[in-house]
Amino acid sequence: MPATKIIFLDFDGPLCNHRVTAATGSMEAFDQYAIAVLRKVCDLSGAKIVCTSTRAPLYEGGRKDIVAQWFADAGMGAEYLHPDWSCRYDNTKGGRREHIARWLTEHPDCSIRDTVTIDDNFVDVPNLVQVNRYDGLMSGHFMQIMTAFVLDPQHLYKDIVRQI
Ligand SMILES: [Mg+2]
Repeated sequence: MPATKIIFLDFDGPLCNHRVTAATGSMEAFDQYAIAVLRKVCDLSGAKIVCTSTRAPLYEGGRKDIVAQWFADAGMGAEYLHPDWSCRYDNTKGGRREHIARWLTEHPDCSIRDTVTIDDNFVDVPNLVQVNRYDGLMSGHFMQIMTAFVLDPQHLYKDIVRQI
């Protein structure tokens, strides 16, 4: 059985970005277009999401219901989250790289080679997809993620009916 692909996902920057703030006036709302890109990647790759965000409901793996609602509001169901869905971020115990490494240690069935990390800051891990905090996760990043998962980036356009 192939290893589960994992997307380590930051929120502020990739999903909550200046573009969404300009459009909605909210600094908390998830970018529906970024979520659509992410959902497409997960549908095509089978990847599951593990949250690396520092937002309070994620501390020590708590309040999955709150986080799932944020995803649901942007059009993504909780089934896309890995059963162990959070790195349980604690700023007093290392940085994001260490949290990802710890999560992987606890899940020996997942290999670092089968992961992608999406963040607006640099994280020293393989397959980092670094976005900018102004525009967040865009379609170009879809290509990077698919390539990292050794899948055809042209899948973005598969099943799309040509209308011109
Ligand atoms: Mg961030």
